[in-house]
Amino acid sequence: MSALEHLHPQATHTAPLGASRVAYLLVRSSRRSIGLEVSAQGLTVRAPLRASMVQIESVLQDKARWVIAKLGERETRVQQTPSIQWQHGSCLPYLGGIVQLYLHPAAARAGELLPVAQDRWVLHLPLSEEASPSSVRTAVAAWWLRHARDLFQQRLQHFAPALAVQWRNLRLSNARTRWGSAKTDGSIMLNWRLLHYRLPVLDYVVIHELSHLRVMDHSPRFWAVVQSVCPDYATLRAELRQQPAPEWVL
Ligand SMILES: [Zn+2]
Repeated sequence: MSALEHLHPQATHTAPLGASRVAYLLVRSSRRSIGLEVSAQGLTVRAPLRASMVQIESVLQDKARWVIAKLGERETRVQQTPSIQWQHGSCLPYLGGIVQLYLHPAAARAGELLPVAQDRWVLHLPLSEEASPSSVRTAVAAWWLRHARDLFQQRLQHFAPALAVQWRNLRLSNARTRWGSAKTDGSIMLNWRLLHYRLPVLDYVVIHELSHLRVMDHSPRFWAVVQSVCPDYATLRAELRQQPAPEWVL
């Protein structure tokens, strides 16, 4: 599958625009001119019934800079958005990039996450395009929690040997202000919202909690342990504070 940097979930056509490739939805109707629209889902091209692909592509090339700028603005909005839209085509921040929801009742690749470009993924869910926000949210949450658990376990296993600690069991949490915790018995709790952040930020929290298995407080001795595995922890910690995770409200 070739990398599409901007994907409309119902895309019918693709076009190279500037340095990007854009997958867009073409809608034909009895209108007189070719119109372009960038919505939350992506680029839609509206064209007269008899407009040729050459004419349509020429309009796209003329407006390439405008289209790319609009698509870029839309992605910035998604990354800063305080809450998630639970519907077909909507996007949510994921590992520092964006995952777009693709609803299809007979999705052959249901529950599968497909990379479409650098830091961009599409999550296929076996739901109708008109599914209610609450059922979309439920389906995404089931995938998200399973995926968070797998990734956290993998990162814990990766960093535990470097810190010479043994963790025992992982629980997921959903606290508003707490990213993780660790107990002397080796049990670790991590917040599933961490999956919204870049992997180095998520790793910092994993390393922080594993380091508590060596030093339980936040003394200079503790930070020295964190730093031994995560030298730029201060920057990553600041990033976590500055970027709030989006709300999962309906
Ligand atoms: Zn701590």
